[in-house]
Amino acid sequence: MNLSMKTENTCPSLVAKDYRSDTKPVWCPGCGDFGVLLSLTKSLAELQLNPKNVAVISGIGCSSRIPAYLNTFGFHGVHGRALTIGTGLKVARPDLTVIVAGGDGDGFSIGGNHFLHACRRNVDMTYIVMDNELYGMTKGQASPTSAPDWEYGKLTPGGTHMKPFHPLVVGLASGANFIARVSGTNPNGAVPIISEAIRHPGFSLVHVLSPCITFNREQLEWKKMVRDAVVPTTNDAGKAARYLMSDDGFNLGILFKGDRLPYDLKSEKTVDGPADLEAQFSV
Ligand code: SF4
Repeated sequence: MNLSMKTENTCPSLVAKDYRSDTKPVWCPGCGDFGVLLSLTKSLAELQLNPKNVAVISGIGCSSRIPAYLNTFGFHGVHGRALTIGTGLKVARPDLTVIVAGGDGDGFSIGGNHFLHACRRNVDMTYIVMDNELYGMTKGQASPTSAPDWEYGKLTPGGTHMKPFHPLVVGLASGANFIARVSGTNPNGAVPIISEAIRHPGFSLVHVLSPCITFNREQLEWKKMVRDAVVPTTNDAGKAARYLMSDDGFNLGILFKGDRLPYDLKSEKTVDGPADLEAQFSV
């Protein structure tokens, strides 16, 4: 398979730690996001990407701190808008590898509409969502992916009683071109999957089961519950949908790899500078 535009500009001989910044993560010890940081740096090294050609964009939340911990370009944006910033960046700079990262609250609640349209547009970038089924940074409120009976604090006595959002089914139905689930508790297992997501042309969605050990200690059990998916990767969206609708949420692997062409960045009219921009809008 041809490498997508996401992986041009390689830089050999770097190892995972070369992609880490000197900033020490402020995550709680044991947070699943540490595993994602490790997986991502290992994937970037595996792909030999030049850090100067990688941009990691995030929104707001515990997991959205990740750009600060990387030695690539990064942008810690506003709540729920990471995909819009990533899309704009990729359209303006198709030579960059654009990775968008964040949590379930950021991506599926306030950013939910952007999520649908990012899947639909199929711009060539990778979206890594660290899902802990709650808002960690604001002390553990229910998020769109919380179980209906999960109770924490006074805001949701007895739980939300609402059907949780299913990111992979919604992503598939909206047009995501690559769909995978990995675990923050198995960083090495996630590396080849994240690498493949970055390589695959179009919009790649990587859903990470990333436990919040501070506000939902039951998620420590996830480590024992996850397993490799028994079905092979398919490019048949119908098959993938049937599988995703019936799975229990703990099957890991690349669950769908589509062959839809990514949004054609080259057909976009580019702006050469302020004078060109002014000319385009002159009346
Ligand atoms: Fe991780 Fe939860 Fe701590 Fe946030 S509050 S850093 S999600 S363990």
